[in-house]
Amino acid sequence: MATKNRLLRRLYNRRHITSAGCWEWIGWCSRKGYGMIRVDGKAMAVHRVSFKLHGGRCTRRKPMVLHTCDNPPCFNPEHLYAGNARRNALDVAERTGWPDRSGEHNQNCKLTDGQVAEIRCRYVPWSRGQASANSLAAEYGVGAAYISWLCREERHARPARSVS
Ligand SMILES: [Zn+2]
Repeated sequence: MATKNRLLRRLYNRRHITSAGCWEWIGWCSRKGYGMIRVDGKAMAVHRVSFKLHGGRCTRRKPMVLHTCDNPPCFNPEHLYAGNARRNALDVAERTGWPDRSGEHNQNCKLTDGQVAEIRCRYVPWSRGQASANSLAAEYGVGAAYISWLCREERHARPARSVS
């Protein structure tokens, strides 16, 4: 069994604190960009784990853990609250001025499709310097975890079944 303290240490060891105060997960992310962690053999979303470890509670009417910062890899408990899908859509629309749609106006997508294509061309995994996730993140004003997620996402989209 994973103890609370050990779990917390695992979270704190893998966070990147952004200038906005987000704790971005460094490591495995889901296709939607949420940080993922294995707890007792089960894959769990990091922001949900963090919310509960810090005393947050979900109820039947508010089963989801949502972000006030619209930053999927963030697991700062101060940026998390319990809610539901309807509430989330309303909140996001209010915060961003956009209804929840796909593509460039998606609330998780701070970049245009053109910028995403550019980043995918330029990003070199595990590199240092200009092609690194950190440097691209600074240039485009997004989190480093978001950059590596975008580029991982592209690998997922390729039809070939290679390494898993
Ligand atoms: Zn945040």
